[in-house]
Amino acid sequence: MTNHLFSAFRSRMPAAGRLLMETDDGRSITYGDMLAKSAQLAHGLAQAGVEPGDRVAVQVEKSPEAALLYLACLRTGAVFLPLNTAYTLPELDYFFRDAEPRLIVCDPDRLSGVEPLAASIGATVLTLGRDGQGTLASQASRQVADFIDVERGPDDLAAILYTSGTTGRSKGAMLSHENLASNARVLVEQWRFSADDVLIHALPIFHTHGLFVATNVILMAGATMLFEQKFDPARILSLIPRATALMGVPTFYVRLLQQDGLTKEAAKGMRIFISGSAPLLAETHKAWRERTGHAILERYGMTETNMNTSNPYDGERRAGTVGFPLPGVSLRITDPEDGRRLGQGEIGTIEVKGPNVFAGYWRMPEKTRAEFRDDGFFITGDLGLIDADGYVHIVGRGKDLIISGGFNVYPKEIESEIDALDGVSESAVIGIAHPDFGEGVTAVVVRKPGSALDAADIADAIAGRLAKYKHPKQVIFVDELPRNTMGKVQKNVLREAYKDIYA
Ligand code: ATP
Ligand code: MG
Repeated sequence: MTNHLFSAFRSRMPAAGRLLMETDDGRSITYGDMLAKSAQLAHGLAQAGVEPGDRVAVQVEKSPEAALLYLACLRTGAVFLPLNTAYTLPELDYFFRDAEPRLIVCDPDRLSGVEPLAASIGATVLTLGRDGQGTLASQASRQVADFIDVERGPDDLAAILYTSGTTGRSKGAMLSHENLASNARVLVEQWRFSADDVLIHALPIFHTHGLFVATNVILMAGATMLFEQKFDPARILSLIPRATALMGVPTFYVRLLQQDGLTKEAAKGMRIFISGSAPLLAETHKAWRERTGHAILERYGMTETNMNTSNPYDGERRAGTVGFPLPGVSLRITDPEDGRRLGQGEIGTIEVKGPNVFAGYWRMPEKTRAEFRDDGFFITGDLGLIDADGYVHIVGRGKDLIISGGFNVYPKEIESEIDALDGVSESAVIGIAHPDFGEGVTAVVVRKPGSALDAADIADAIAGRLAKYKHPKQVIFVDELPRNTMGKVQKNVLREAYKDIYA
């Protein structure tokens, strides 16, 4: 029977003995094991009462079994719903009530807290620990190791993935089998993945980057991943000689650059370094190239759309840009006010359309309607432009746009100027309520160790380079910027922290 996404993985599967995953504690999972164990888990799900279309909410530590549980959900026709391991019980309560899962899989340590929440929505609870043990595993181990995949078409839901909640409350994005299959196929081709690849996988698997970009690409290529519990720069460096590819968030690259052992020699067997989920500083791109001889390939995506654009495999990987729309993806820039299409070089809202774009927000029909144009384009909420060579640049999020004295101020432009100064490590420019200007441009800056740079130095450096209305009214120095687990700067946290500075 065809199960749209899983059948695609099956059709590309290498010999059963080939390695799919190797963990940091020395466990190996072959493609044959993957088929057998996901079959057992699929029976386990069915036994727990999960039927096609039911949600399976999963908050567990990263483990091969957690990844196999995703595959088991696909095979039973269930909707996989992973949750950030950092979510507290009250947060879980919100997600459970919103998604109404049939089954909840949680860490054994969390069981006593999760049980009452599950009881209140009539869900069953099973456990899965980081060692792969727990009630789910013991139930699965009693099952036969083959399973007839439930029939699923391209438009059936494969997953509900909640957005990171960077700009507000997380929304559940409904992703179909074809959303995921089409994107994985395109990425394998664009990034030239083959069965010979060995990917260092050190991302969490509750987010689109580690779950769909990384895992689906590897399954679609029949390749191997070194499945790391967490990102440890020294450990990653030690794996590089055995690997061909790394997918990371920008902080991975920043932290790897702090390792003395990162050299051209160390990276010579690597084929590709990919970055996404947050903007990679042009400076990091440059430093990486100098140290390793590799140009990091930056791409742009979101929970709702999978990947939209990518720098080219062959050809120039342009620092500070996210490259070109992927094959099959249409991308346009529109006026944030009236939706009018803008020309080359003009800054506006990024809109996308293609087989990668989700089916809508779970149980938010109005929000879904509001974020789609009549002709099917999805309004990403990101601001950007397309340059003369067709490269897409992201200048920030619509919600981070500053309107000061009636002028639009794009934070990225000011951040780039500040970041280029000697003595600056990084910066975030935000708008804070201001009695005269509506919003006051405010720069939050992290200095390099030992730097004595002050606000006047920044003002002097910017004076001749940016129009007056873009100059920060205040510069605040901090030790580090607040970031979430995906390395995204939390500007809402900064806005909250400094909300009264002009009051
Ligand atoms: P929420 O929608 O809940 O506020 P979020 O948008 O951070 O959270 P994700 O779907 O994880 O949740 O992140 C998608 C966003 O990440 C994009 O809309 C974009 O702003 C940002 N992003 C992803 N890749 C890049 C990149 N290469 N450069 C700049 N920004 C990026
Ligand atoms: Mg978002």
